[in-house]
Amino acid sequence: MDEKPVPQASRGTATYWENAAHGRLALQICPACDQHVFYPRRWCPRCFGRDLQWREACGRGEIHTYSVICAAPGVGFEDAAPYVLAVIELEEGPRMMANVIACPADAVHVGLRVEVVFEARGGMHLPQFRPVAADRGGGV
Ligand SMILES: [Zn+2]
Repeated sequence: MDEKPVPQASRGTATYWENAAHGRLALQICPACDQHVFYPRRWCPRCFGRDLQWREACGRGEIHTYSVICAAPGVGFEDAAPYVLAVIELEEGPRMMANVIACPADAVHVGLRVEVVFEARGGMHLPQFRPVAADRGGGV
């Protein structure tokens, strides 16, 4: 039984989750300073511009840092451990935290190129990352 926590959309994140439901990783962009913004916010953290707009990201990035979680942190994760929790640096610039899946934990490394996939959970679609096809050879 999958009892992992399910994120809840809010007014500020509804667009993000709607895109995720369609397999798209959406980021905000600030037209005033041409910077991508993640996580979803009401104003740009760089220039405080308030006209943030949504744009689809390419969904690729590389692992900036990661940790192998060996002990389940709570209910619903018992069967998942060991698993990889990583900070992904997206090609657009922002970094986001997600799991790295479809890859043995000991094959994960800083700089590994990854691409987004979405995990359906409780009616939501969570971004997770897997190695890009060219980097998966010989793996799982
Ligand atoms: Zn800005």
